[in-house]
Amino acid sequence: MRKLGNPVLAERASDLEDVRRRVLAILLGVAGSATVLPENAIVFAADLLPSQFADLDLTKVAGIVLAYAGPTAHVSILAASKGIPAVVAAGVGVLCVPDGQPVIVDADLGSVRINPPEADLADIRAAVIRRRERVAANRAATQDDCYTADGKRIEVVANLGGPADVAVALESGAEGCGLMRSEFLFLNRTSAPSEDEQYAQYQAIADGLKGRPLIIRTLDAGADKDVPYANLPKEENPALGMRGVRMSLWQPELLRTQIRALLRVKPYGQTKILLPMIATIADLRDVRKVIDEEMKALGRTAPIEVGIMVEVPSAALISRTLAAEADFLSVGTNDLAQYTLAIDRVNPRLAKQLDPFHPAVLRLIQLAAEGARAHGRWVGVCGSLASFPLAAPVLIGLGVTELSATAGSIAEIKAMVRTLDMNKCKAVAEAALALESGEAVRRMLAQSWPEA
Ligand code: PEP
Ligand code: MG
Repeated sequence: MRKLGNPVLAERASDLEDVRRRVLAILLGVAGSATVLPENAIVFAADLLPSQFADLDLTKVAGIVLAYAGPTAHVSILAASKGIPAVVAAGVGVLCVPDGQPVIVDADLGSVRINPPEADLADIRAAVIRRRERVAANRAATQDDCYTADGKRIEVVANLGGPADVAVALESGAEGCGLMRSEFLFLNRTSAPSEDEQYAQYQAIADGLKGRPLIIRTLDAGADKDVPYANLPKEENPALGMRGVRMSLWQPELLRTQIRALLRVKPYGQTKILLPMIATIADLRDVRKVIDEEMKALGRTAPIEVGIMVEVPSAALISRTLAAEADFLSVGTNDLAQYTLAIDRVNPRLAKQLDPFHPAVLRLIQLAAEGARAHGRWVGVCGSLASFPLAAPVLIGLGVTELSATAGSIAEIKAMVRTLDMNKCKAVAEAALALESGEAVRRMLAQSWPEA
């Protein structure tokens, strides 16, 4: 009806859309809830499924507040990729807020203020306008390659889940892909994708990136990423069990198929392989052996770069040993924070304490960078810490030269990096390492860059 080009009939299409929403709400037993959103709505919910998020009219959503979920939950990643401010793990108290109240959500500070004074509302409206103007200016400059003010090259690339994400990433200014989470091809199905199916997807991403670098991570199944047909064993503590590269080496057929698909992607040199959950040098060597065998079987002689995720503290601690044999290192701050702070990343009660800005996590990133430098390797960050523009000065000061972020934050990150110089970054990193908590690090950064 919308395509008929008649505005009256197009309006009827919206009516039908509305009926669809209401019928669904009745069938789901949630009739009466505010499924039709007003302008500038703040959505309060216990949690949101990705499908529920997809159902929201994002043109109307000014922010999201969730009682549960965590910063690395799918809904948080989706909200970030769409540029929607979201405060998660806010506690059940937020579910008592009545509909229609004025609310200020500040996702930078993680604060939610109900019924603030009119003067504060006016201030925040003005700040939102200033921010929109800044974002528009940042977007206009986002296609240029990124350098610090003193000329240090910092690659700002995107995290991708599949070919469908490539266009948005490039529009956002991504200079390539620093982490393609290949598990998205394996989830929600009853059997593993075949070599040809995988190859088609990887090649489509490589083509879409038009020669820009592409880093594809091998299957990171287990723990929070369930792949039913992988026959994972029932374990007391799956996050400490068969996951990532351990699972791949335990059932090498899935790994071999994936490696063969990856090795076929052309042009050679564009695509690199990234290995998840490396904890020991044996993990890396065992996978290298598989890669070498499959290269031989395929008759490929052109080398392929193989990097490791630094997301287990042991990998940071022995980064010098690992960097001798890995081509690059990429820090996964989601898991690195989980394993450093001993906080389950899917436990909503502890989500607030799972802070990648924690100085203990930063110190491990520094160690990873030192180990890499000793062997002339580069270090990137592809965990969620890289998506905070405020983290850029610290990470660059610690020795990181690649930031792989969610598409929605790339323009802001590039704008931040362009204002920085290496001396300032090193001083900020040193200061952050000496602070007592993640919160203190955030506060220090927010004071230094109040508009970021
Ligand atoms: C990480 O752990 O930071 C990471 C990038 O990997 P994932 O979030 O997919 O576990
Ligand atoms: Mg991880």
